[in-house]
Amino acid sequence: MFDLKNCTICPRDCGVNRAAGHVGYCSTPAGYSISSIVVHKGEEPAISGRNGICNLFFTGCNLRCIFCQNHQISGNLAKIKLWSEDQVITEIEKILEKGIHAVGFVTTSHVVPQIVSIIQRLRKSGINAVTVYNTNSYEKPEVIRALDGLIDVYLPDFKYINPELALQYSDAANYPVVAAAAIKEMYRQKGSYLQTNEHGEAESGLVIRHLVLPGHTQESIQLLNYIAEEISTGVHISLMSQYHPAHRAVHHHTLGRSLYPEEYRQVANEMLRLGFRNGWIQDEESVDFFNPDFYKEHPFE
Ligand code: SF4
Repeated sequence: MFDLKNCTICPRDCGVNRAAGHVGYCSTPAGYSISSIVVHKGEEPAISGRNGICNLFFTGCNLRCIFCQNHQISGNLAKIKLWSEDQVITEIEKILEKGIHAVGFVTTSHVVPQIVSIIQRLRKSGINAVTVYNTNSYEKPEVIRALDGLIDVYLPDFKYINPELALQYSDAANYPVVAAAAIKEMYRQKGSYLQTNEHGEAESGLVIRHLVLPGHTQESIQLLNYIAEEISTGVHISLMSQYHPAHRAVHHHTLGRSLYPEEYRQVANEMLRLGFRNGWIQDEESVDFFNPDFYKEHPFE
């Protein structure tokens, strides 16, 4: 399953030999192609914890979201640093020594073997930091099954429920089916309960993220209904309002604007009406704060 010589790690099933330097849809060779390893204070307080999380921002991606906030690195435009595994481990250790409780892997689907290897190395060294798997969810369920016992907290995006939108905005018509299966496997492993420590920092569980897109409140409402019916209303939802036009969405007829407050409120109200009782509803001033620049040393400052 993790054979980089004939890569079928994600649903794109390219079959290329990444070990020989060839690349498939994700434009990512074998090895550690990471833009930044930094302390990051992200969206959910239970994930960020008191001091932030040590996030590894991998380059490349197996989706082509036209509004991608991280397009500088998902499209391999910004500084691409190739790390040795030793360098990655040393950098993580340096950050964890500052009192950081968790290591987060951001954009994971195309670099699962690298992530597994990092976690195994950390554990061998006696480092048991919480592992957070921050994925776009365009993942094979069998790959997620293979991560059982290695990942403490799953943080999957659930972007779309309609294939037309998934095709139009992310070049993946089968995204809804694929993502639903992957998230159901995460739920099988973790259930609804989010285990936290005495500081409220997540130690084990599942948090489903959904970014509300401008002009698409019905999509978000349908997606929440799907989660309520097919997964659970007990699961933690992080409903995000931080959309800001980026990349190829800047002049887009529908996506070329920020979200109206009433759009977000409509979706948040539906979430409450459906009976979701765990998670986070973002305040409406989050747009600038979460707009990273990966040309900078620290993308979020
Ligand atoms: S991980 Fe990359 S090369 Fe492998 S199947 Fe997916 S897109 Fe293709």
